This record gives sequence, structure tokens and C-alpha cells, in this order.
Amino acid sequence: MSVIGHDTASPTPAHPKSAYARSADERVNKLTSIPFIIVHLIPLLVVFTGITIEAVVLGVVTYVGRMFFITAGYHRYFSHRSYRMPRVPQFLMAFGGTTAAQKGPLWWAGHHRHHHRTSDTPEDVHSPLRGFWWSHVGWILCDKYADTPTQNIKDFAKFPELRFLNRFDWIGPWALGFACYFIAGWSGLLIGFFLSTVLLWHGTFVINSLAHVMGRRRYATEDTSRNSAMLALMTLGEGWHNNHHYYQASARQGFFWWELDVTYGILRALSWMRIVSDLKVPSPQVRAANRIRNGAFDIGTFRAHLARAGAAVHATGTGIGTRLAATGHHAAETLAERRAQVGDGLTHRKEELEEFVRHSLDSAEQLARASRLAQRPLSAPSD
Ligand SMILES: [Zn+2]
Ligand SMILES: [Zn+2]
Repeated sequence: MSVIGHDTASPTPAHPKSAYARSADERVNKLTSIPFIIVHLIPLLVVFTGITIEAVVLGVVTYVGRMFFITAGYHRYFSHRSYRMPRVPQFLMAFGGTTAAQKGPLWWAGHHRHHHRTSDTPEDVHSPLRGFWWSHVGWILCDKYADTPTQNIKDFAKFPELRFLNRFDWIGPWALGFACYFIAGWSGLLIGFFLSTVLLWHGTFVINSLAHVMGRRRYATEDTSRNSAMLALMTLGEGWHNNHHYYQASARQGFFWWELDVTYGILRALSWMRIVSDLKVPSPQVRAANRIRNGAFDIGTFRAHLARAGAAVHATGTGIGTRLAATGHHAAETLAERRAQVGDGLTHRKEELEEFVRHSLDSAEQLARASRLAQRPLSAPSD
């Protein structure tokens, strides 16, 4: 028996995983996801209860109201501290956020801060580069990210009332569910609470998934964020996601008058009533700088393309190995020999390609730095 045949009889060596591939502990927990799926089905019970006008109005109110608590509270306040408010409104904002059934404020904001620190890199928990459905909902249904990343949210974790809400995050949704039932009966519960909650979930999740895929890029950010009027309409202004990644500190995400940002409008009204203060907004200089249209190098898109190219290189290697293995049962020794040769050649090619990708990324990063420097005179010193 040939030594080569013996040595290479095992399948082609396993290819190292692409950087964006999910690890073994990043799998949807099917058992604990059952309640999530059931909530999606509950609104169908309206075939028995019928749909009343009160229930529909209630559903619109609970959608818009809770979306405001998520965007103004969980996102722009707890995640980004883009304005200030005293302790009582802060508590009410957090409680309002919990009624959306998206876990507690510390959990939500802690994970969101991590997203901004690592956007669209292999460390980003919910980058669409790791799979669209994963970014939309998979990461939420997996055990790995179920705990609050307290280290990312120490500034708010020091408030005992916020820790309480974060721990007992079910109080808000249950209280709202009962209220909907008492206000508009069974139909009120199904439409006003359950349907509205499902729509609100996906209305929020699209910012993690679609807002990094669909729409236009104005600013050359390091990630794949985009601006979409449709998503902004659904989310009271969160769809201006490229603006937001460019200038996260801003309480306003629609940077121009034609970019509808309902959340910012309400925050302005609250600031006139002195409930909130110090709303941060970008200066005209910041808004004018770092634009792709004016020659800023779009490093975010470039990186995403490179990541896809890298994944394709891995996939190609595996594909050829599998095809050879599939034809391998005749003349096993000759084929095993061929497989070994092709495998060696392929490994060498892949190393060259990966080297090329690394060099391209290095030069792209230099180019991005140069283009940012070139635009500096336009931007404010604080940018
Ligand atoms: Zn954000
Ligand atoms: Zn994002």
C-alpha cells in the first residue's frame, strides 16, 4: 500500500475558519427561543376576539411610545449619553424602555456600546458580515450574550434603581400587558400589546441588520452603516444610521431638515419643558467633513468587501476539497495523491491571497487616514 495513499486517505485538512465565522457557543438556543416564537403567533388569536378600533389605536400608541423610549432612552441616552436628565426622568425613561420587552437598559446599552467599539469587525456581536439573520435576531436568541456586560456600562450600573429595572426587566412588559387588557379587552391585549411588541422588536432589530446593508453612505465611517429614510420613518429617526456611526455623541440623528427625526423633535420639546438638557448636536463643520462625495476614502465598505473576499477564499478551498473527495472512491490512491498536490498548491495560494488582503487593508487604512487629515481644516476641533 502506498505511503502517500495511506497518509492522505483522511479528508482534506480542515480549513481555518473565516474571521467572521461564528464560534461553537454562538448558536441559537432553540429551547429558550420558544417564548419568542410564541409571542409572534399570539396576535393570530384575533380570529377569535375580532379587532376593535380601540385596540388598533392602542397598538399605534404603544408602538410609537415604546419606540421613543428605546431610541431616546436606551439608545441616545443610556448608550451614548447624548443629553442629560435628572434622576427621576432617567428612571422613567428606563422603565418605559423595559415595557418594550428588549431586556433591561444596562443589558441593551452595554451591548450597544460594544457594537460601536467593534463595528463590523470580527468582534462585533451583530455585524451582518456574520450573517444577516444572525445580526437581526440570532445573537439575541443565543446564550452567550444573555448576560449584562456590566463592564461596558459602569456609569449607569452605579444607580441601584437602574440595576433593579435591569434585573426585573419583566415588570414593565407585564404591567403594560395588563393595562392593555383593562383598556381594550382581549383585542387590546392581542393588538395593543402582542402585535405591537413584535413589530417593535423587528423595528428595532432592522437597525442592527438592514441599516448596515440598505441605504446610502454619506460619511466615510469605519463600518458599513447606511442612511435610509424608510428605516428612519419606522424607527422615529434611527434610520440615519450612517450619520449616527459618524457622530455617535449627537442626540440628533437626522442631520438636515429633510432627514425626519421624530425622536429628536420630542427631545427638543422636552428640553423646552426643562425635563432634559444639553442636547448634543454636530456643528455645521462636522456635518460637512469626511464625506465620501468629497473624496473621503470609504474604508468601511472597502473592509466589508475584503472580509467577503476572505470568506470566499476559504469557501473555495473547502469546495475543491469536497469535490475531489466526492470523486475519490475510484482509484483512491491516485486521487489521494492528486488531492494532496492540489491541497498544497491551494494552501500556498491562500497564504498569498491572505497576504495580499492584509497589505491591501494596510494601504487602505493609510489612505483613509490621509483623506481624514486632508479634510481636517473643515472639521471642528472637538471632532
Ligand atoms: Zn448607537
Ligand atoms: Zn450600527
